[in-house]
Amino acid sequence: MADRRGELAANLAKVEERIAAACAAAGRKREEVTLIVVTKTYPASDVRILAELGVRQVAENKDQDAAPKAADCSDLPLQWHFVGQLQTNKVRSVVGYADVVQSVDRARLVTALSKEAVRAGREVGCLIQVALDAGLSERGERGGVAPGGIGELAALVAGSPGLRLAGLMTVAPLTGEYAGRQRAAFGRLMDLSTDLRRVHPAANMVSAGMSADLEEAVAAGATHVRVGTSVLGVRPRLG
Ligand SMILES: *Cc1c(COP(=O)(O)O)cnc(C)c1O
Repeated sequence: MADRRGELAANLAKVEERIAAACAAAGRKREEVTLIVVTKTYPASDVRILAELGVRQVAENKDQDAAPKAADCSDLPLQWHFVGQLQTNKVRSVVGYADVVQSVDRARLVTALSKEAVRAGREVGCLIQVALDAGLSERGERGGVAPGGIGELAALVAGSPGLRLAGLMTVAPLTGEYAGRQRAAFGRLMDLSTDLRRVHPAANMVSAGMSADLEEAVAAGATHVRVGTSVLGVRPRLG
């Protein structure tokens, strides 16, 4: 346990250095970028250590792993982000612990989130997940709505009780015109965010960048980076 603490502290320090350097290179203040640690597949004991080390934002992508972990850690001062593809039958459970759902990508999901948020008496922040590998009106391979669908979905979230439209999220695409071009992909997301903020000025969160490409995301203007592997290690299984 002491070893794990030392390992996580050292990894966190390295990630912190990378974010600080990326901010400096981009002429941005360090406070403009928030680190979200993606704890998927790792145990609640790691989440507890991270909280002791000062982490305040964590993310998970599978409700069956996240729900018991969040329950175990309910005494900790953490904000929980849900970043995985979300089935409507899991929404009630997710709303029980998630402060922010970053993977909002279809109307049916918005309706379900609103209903459960109201039932639970909670406010859930929502990011629209943008698929930069989708055609004009399709959905992406790993979830997300095509850029052309953002406006309609944003209006729906903004008008739904229990939900707060917080901004946009993307995962750098593996296919399509942005494959291997993270900087261009994140630049496109920033342009879409500018468009969104013209209509919804408070929806200013831009969640982009992971272990491999956080520098490109910070350079483009991301407000939140989601880092798993570089903090916790290579995941023992796909997640
Ligand atoms: C797993 C995951 C991350 C973190 O990825 P790493 O490469 O481990 O940093 C970020 N965002 C989403 C949506 C994820 O599923």
